[in-house]
Amino acid sequence: MNGCVPAVVFGAYDAKIANICKYIINETEVNSQVMIPLILRAATKVTDLELIPDEQLSLKRRIPYPSEILLEAIHESGLQESIPIEVIYIPASFSNAVVPLTLNIAATDYYLDVIAHELDLNEASDLLISRTIGKSSSEMRMYSPAPKKQFLDTFSKWKVEQTIHFEGPSNVRASYIVGQEVYGDVILASVGYTWRSSELWHEAVSLRSYYRMLINMIPSGIYKISREALLTAKLPSSFTTKGNWRGSLPKDILCAFCRLHHLSEPVFSTQSKLLVSSLDIPGSCKKLKVTQLSKEEEQESGLSTAQGNTEESVEVFNCEVKLHSKKQELILQCSPHDLHRRQTDAMNSTSLKVLSWLTIVFEEPDKSMDKLTTMAETFEICFLHQFFFNTLCSSIRNVWGVRSKACSVNSEGDEVFLIDLGGKNTGGTPSNGSLACITYTVSLFREDACVKESLESCEEFEFELGNEGVLPHLESAVAQMAVGQSSYFRVDLPPDDFILAAAGDTAATLSLLSTRRCKLEYCVTLLRVTEPLEERMEQALFSPPLSKQRVEFAVKQIKESSALSLVDFGCGSGSLLDSLLSYPTSLEKVVGVDISQKSLARAAKSLHSKLNKLLDSKDPSNKIKYAVLYDGSITKFDSRLRGYDIATCLEVIEHMEEKDACIFGDVALSLFCPKILIVSTPNYEYNVILQRSSTCHGQEDGDTQEAAQAACKFRNHDHKFEWNRAEFNQWASELAARHNYGVEFSGVGGAGDVEPGFASQIAIFRRMHEEDIPSNIESVAEATNESSSPFSTIWEWNREDQECNEKHQ
Ligand code: SAH
Ligand code: MG
Repeated sequence: MNGCVPAVVFGAYDAKIANICKYIINETEVNSQVMIPLILRAATKVTDLELIPDEQLSLKRRIPYPSEILLEAIHESGLQESIPIEVIYIPASFSNAVVPLTLNIAATDYYLDVIAHELDLNEASDLLISRTIGKSSSEMRMYSPAPKKQFLDTFSKWKVEQTIHFEGPSNVRASYIVGQEVYGDVILASVGYTWRSSELWHEAVSLRSYYRMLINMIPSGIYKISREALLTAKLPSSFTTKGNWRGSLPKDILCAFCRLHHLSEPVFSTQSKLLVSSLDIPGSCKKLKVTQLSKEEEQESGLSTAQGNTEESVEVFNCEVKLHSKKQELILQCSPHDLHRRQTDAMNSTSLKVLSWLTIVFEEPDKSMDKLTTMAETFEICFLHQFFFNTLCSSIRNVWGVRSKACSVNSEGDEVFLIDLGGKNTGGTPSNGSLACITYTVSLFREDACVKESLESCEEFEFELGNEGVLPHLESAVAQMAVGQSSYFRVDLPPDDFILAAAGDTAATLSLLSTRRCKLEYCVTLLRVTEPLEERMEQALFSPPLSKQRVEFAVKQIKESSALSLVDFGCGSGSLLDSLLSYPTSLEKVVGVDISQKSLARAAKSLHSKLNKLLDSKDPSNKIKYAVLYDGSITKFDSRLRGYDIATCLEVIEHMEEKDACIFGDVALSLFCPKILIVSTPNYEYNVILQRSSTCHGQEDGDTQEAAQAACKFRNHDHKFEWNRAEFNQWASELAARHNYGVEFSGVGGAGDVEPGFASQIAIFRRMHEEDIPSNIESVAEATNESSSPFSTIWEWNREDQECNEKHQ
């Protein structure tokens, strides 16, 4: 309103100007204040701008705005109330705590002036503004005092090479988060004007989000946050299978880490090899045999084969990763020798090695260079000492070093109490590689006063046993528990940062913490343990994996029938829909239905990006116009899904009670009436083969053997039944006959004409009479007294909308 713009605003908000500055002086990347003299200098050459005299680092229009415009602007803004904005104050001195503040910005205020006043400065042009922090859409920035006098000196004496050095104290915590040098006391805020509106945009920045940002700078922190389990999760020690991994994948964490630390994107290079293997290789490839191995050696090693074939050649992958600084100097290289069946597994496994080493670097910053080098060797890592010592580590030492003392857990003081809630005891302790699912709460517990403040909890938290993916105390507690049992234990406090990043009520937590008489109390109930059998076996025994064979089977049917519409009943995380999209088919409309909201959320995420990518690629073989995901039980009818060309229901019915599977069959063929319905389910008779080669056996002890046998009876703990071929045939034939469908039998995995048949059995139902769909469907719904569209839409994608969006952008 006064026609002035602080010079710093040009550098912070105009990407073009910022880039030109960076081009002139590379240092602006890490030290944004260097831009200011450049901008002032440039402004002297712009005819309609002038510098404000009297040492203000602001620019002004030479010809002011007409007064009517200003009046109108004042009139408009006068209508607004003053706005309270929650920000964070980060003092330069480490001994002063980071605190939340509220700024009140009145209608006639310039928000940058208000921030400046809060830092005891006169006005906006006394501020420095950092680059944005976090996501690219974020407006979160650090505001700090500008060394005004020095800018003016540099400006008047003008030398490009000259850099400015602020005399005040460096703000280590703030610099660490933003990755730029920041001096003096700092305000962290998310506020500003956007091009979308003339109103001030803002978002509250809480103490909790500040601590999360801090923790998010270390690899294990990124993982903890992705699991929403800051006090519970740890970065697991190895990558076994994608199916057992929970939280962000190692490769994604490594990319996020590089972005946050302003390094270049990691460069992965994978190599593939053909190996001869025996058939019972688990997901990871430790047992793989190289081609040169002689027959004898192979027999000596005692590896049995599943189907009598002694050899099968397998493609395996090995992955190397390199990290580079923004200036493209190589700073780290990890070249492990291990081999993986899938390329993505190899990338994730290598990424995890790098992350594990970095975690040691970050969490134990007092480790000597020698120790770090030795550790690096065990992870097959080479790194540029200088970079880690001077650049990364120094800031880490400053921020984390202070805390590392507090990290150690005093094991003497810990107690574990088991409370049996009468759950069913499955016998034996869960084997490593199984997934444990627990309910837990963590609270801050003050012993002398018996006060508790809840910090973190989760209804269903899954982790792989034996993989160090959780607090060691928790893993050892769970290892002693039976399903249905609960326990609680107390441990000494981790660094405050983690507690505050988890806490819902910061004030209450801070006041409890200040007593220094607290412990963390964990209450845990073991809900279930899932043996990793099904997925592991499917990956190990079949090439391509069974899931891929099912997709290929469906694709073949779609192609033969030229189907336009498809519904996947029990779509889970959308693996079928997602992979279908990679094949050219006639499909225009695809739908998924499931009852698991979590799986649907995952499906929505992957389908959305896949469909948009396909659209961008302008591949003419992609005909998809519409996709939708519904939350609903497939035992219910929804009229919107009637009469589709093809329906699939792969590996779903065994997850329902047998009677519900029968209801589904009737509802599908009498109401949904697809032209074709494909149903797959495990063949129980095949389990002997799968279980012979699985790893969960081998104990000699009779009792455990029995327990293991019971546990392995079905392929997956969530299965309610598994049918043999006769049972499946009977169900499908009777069902088809009842509803005037034909049925054929097929399968994937193994062979149909060799005992014990296919691993996954498949029935293909075909509607006999094209025209024969009864139309009085509303009355069916009415008769059952239910809504005709009970499914709720979770996500929807429309080609036209997307194309429209694209145009607008
Ligand atoms: N078809 C997928 C998922 C199989 S797992 C695939 O082949 O990968 C079984 C799925 O069936 C789970 O996602 C589960 O949530 C779902 N499911 C079980 N009972 C269901 C019901 N009554 N209605 C809808 N989905 C169901
Ligand atoms: Mg299943």
